[in-house]
Amino acid sequence: KTDQEPSLDFIFRSKLPDIFIPNHLPLIDYVFQKFSGDGDGHGDSTATCLIDGATGRIFTYADVQTNSRRIAAGIHRLGIRHRDVVMLLLPNSPEFALSFLAVAYIGAVSTTANPFYMQPEIEKQAKASTAKMIITKRCYVDKLTNLQNDGVLIVCVEDDGDDVVSTDGCVSFKELSQADESELPKPEISPEDTVAMPYSSGTTGLPKGVMITHKGLVTSIAQKVDGENPNLNFTADDVILCFLPMFHIYALDALMLSAMRTGAALLIVPRFELNMIMELIQRYKVTVVPVAPPVVLAFVKSSETERYDLSSVRMMLSGAATLKKELEEAVRLKFPNAIFGQGYGMTESGTVAKSLAFAKNPFKTKSGACGTVIRNAEMKVVDTTTGVSLPRNQSGEICVRGHQLMKGYLNDPEATAQTIDKDGWLHTGDIGFVDDDDEIFIVDRLKELIKFKGYQVAPAELEALLISHPYIDDAGVVAMKDEVADEVPVAFVVRSKGSQLNEDDVKSYVNKQVVHYKRIKTVFFIEAIPKAVSGKILRKELRAKLETEYSK
Ligand code: ATP
Ligand code: MG
Repeated sequence: KTDQEPSLDFIFRSKLPDIFIPNHLPLIDYVFQKFSGDGDGHGDSTATCLIDGATGRIFTYADVQTNSRRIAAGIHRLGIRHRDVVMLLLPNSPEFALSFLAVAYIGAVSTTANPFYMQPEIEKQAKASTAKMIITKRCYVDKLTNLQNDGVLIVCVEDDGDDVVSTDGCVSFKELSQADESELPKPEISPEDTVAMPYSSGTTGLPKGVMITHKGLVTSIAQKVDGENPNLNFTADDVILCFLPMFHIYALDALMLSAMRTGAALLIVPRFELNMIMELIQRYKVTVVPVAPPVVLAFVKSSETERYDLSSVRMMLSGAATLKKELEEAVRLKFPNAIFGQGYGMTESGTVAKSLAFAKNPFKTKSGACGTVIRNAEMKVVDTTTGVSLPRNQSGEICVRGHQLMKGYLNDPEATAQTIDKDGWLHTGDIGFVDDDDEIFIVDRLKELIKFKGYQVAPAELEALLISHPYIDDAGVVAMKDEVADEVPVAFVVRSKGSQLNEDDVKSYVNKQVVHYKRIKTVFFIEAIPKAVSGKILRKELRAKLETEYSK
């Protein structure tokens, strides 16, 4: 910058130096670079890449590369070309991983969706994304009849042990994976081509289609696991547990692809069930356990964690939603040998921050922090009314810039322009601050802060207090309209089994620990707190409940 144009922004960067990122490479070449002649390392192709937690099947790195190339040849033979869209409607499974790699290999785009979606939800996403093919499991085919009638090709993974050849016009996945890989043409993939189009979680509104390029995804992976001192030190000796949904960016980018880049093994589990997960940790000597706050809560509230040997776990990372200090400290006690830390990111932005406790040469970090901004990126915190950037220890909206950002929202230039400004800053919609040690603390989402007169109350803070109560299993806090204060906080509470806890108990527990404007006005007891599969509290559903069931 020249003297005439002084930079007025307070910009935060990683404590780790920037590195060279080969983001000119197509995603697959980058992910398996260690196995190619021009790679910088020597990948062991006999090492385990994927373990199917449901069946015990194992895929080595050689198996994964060969199989995904065969599937690529198979879908190419069925007419899928460079830039075409394929929908993956699969639970966590090796087939998900192989299909994603195959689609990327031929320069096509994967749009990922929750297989539990209902028919209209699937149709909407398939049509909006102009998917030409859907890869799914036998048990979900019923939901695809209309799309099939419209000419969408359905590829079907048979249920376990089921060898029936499809008679319903679906192509069998098995058949596809027997294609001849020498038929495979390699298209000229541009770094700006979209490779993945996951949808955001729909916490604040409808889920949005997010166009992520080869360059963006390569950058995001490299920011975490590349360099002399990687921020997230996955190694070829790690067994990384993956029960978080692979159709969501967290598992896709930070787990599946990051594990493959480093030569680690990914233990794939189709669903979360606490005891089964602990059993798998014990059996496979899992070293890395990635979680979201509801899972942390399940570990903390479980009385059975001592029945399992969890000593192999060296790293536990949480992301997707705010995790307060108290809960983080409680879960540490259950994993004596694990470093605990958080990552923070969005579908649109890739990883924004990662705890430096996970670096190869780790830094000392604090509980409750969601990490330090990732390397090769810039971050700033802006005042939500003036847009002016703020110094350390002041809360505002977090903004991030770098090559890892999305290309844009699908067919929505307006929303894209509202999210990424003309200077390339992506506005996250999250409120937080950076402390004196460069650690980031998320306060809450801008849209969900409760406005009590002039004061702002973060629901996440009150939820953390509530779940620290021994007889509260879970809680969600939202704003209720109030004539005097404009908005007041009200709590939805899940009582633990057999507890007689009443509204006054809850109120007095919280309200004696907080300043007057944060006091909870009303308590509603419910069976469960609605959550997105990605692990976020769906406060919009609680607000809707307030308006319908609980309005007086
Ligand atoms: P939508 O944009 O569709 O309303 P969403 O924002 O929940 O849904 P995602 O892209 O899955 O969709 O989630 C990104 C958001 O998750 C972030 O903006 C942030 O609010 C939250 N988040 C992720 N990691 C953390 C974390 N470590 N701490 C606090 N919040 C987090
Ligand atoms: Mg969002």
